[in-house]
Amino acid sequence: MLLCDFHIHTKFSDGSVQLKKVIDLFGQAGFDVIAITDHVVNGDNSLGKLAHRLKLSITAKNFDEYISSIKYEADRAWQKYEMLVIQGVEITKNYISPEKSAHILILDIKNFISPCMSYEQIFLEAKQQNSLIVACHPHSMSSFNRDTLFLWNNRDKYAKYIDAWEIANGDDLFSVVSSKRYPYIANSDFHRMRHLYSWKTLLNCEKNIEAVKNCIRHNKGVAITFFRG
Ligand code: ZN
Ligand code: ZN
Repeated sequence: MLLCDFHIHTKFSDGSVQLKKVIDLFGQAGFDVIAITDHVVNGDNSLGKLAHRLKLSITAKNFDEYISSIKYEADRAWQKYEMLVIQGVEITKNYISPEKSAHILILDIKNFISPCMSYEQIFLEAKQQNSLIVACHPHSMSSFNRDTLFLWNNRDKYAKYIDAWEIANGDDLFSVVSSKRYPYIANSDFHRMRHLYSWKTLLNCEKNIEAVKNCIRHNKGVAITFFRG
């Protein structure tokens, strides 16, 4: 099965490791498929404005540069490690209230998507780009991170748009996702080196982007594992 991690941050947003180093870290650890998913943060409140001031967000301005950097590294990763690298973002809607906040992975994104749009607009735009939509850390987390509960609390309305839910993120497991029988994947939410050792996804499919997206969408041949190297 393919060893995969679909949720990885770099210095393009709030990660502490440069993209090139991230690629070599995962390549040398034997991964088959990874996605680079730096934050695109909403700028429509004080939390978001601060993130933008600190340059912790991809913007419409540097999106093309971000994507071409990933493409360059994806070529190198394939030649050196036979590792597939997917271009993605984490749409980051942060509000003071955890009940209003949500983070969404858009995998195989082609064009910039504004996090200030409504959820419906974001999901429809992602579908038009034939991207994969993943609800991140949908329930209470053990770390000091702010919880992001909006999508879970409104799942009756939004589940139809979501291709998969993170059943695990970092060290955390979200049993609510399994109890609802929702499609799932597991990811590191990599920000620093030690996050390499965390929950991962195993996929039983071919190593190309369309096969990977289909496998997750149909959610057959999917397993999770705690990676310890
Ligand atoms: Zn997040
Ligand atoms: Zn993240």
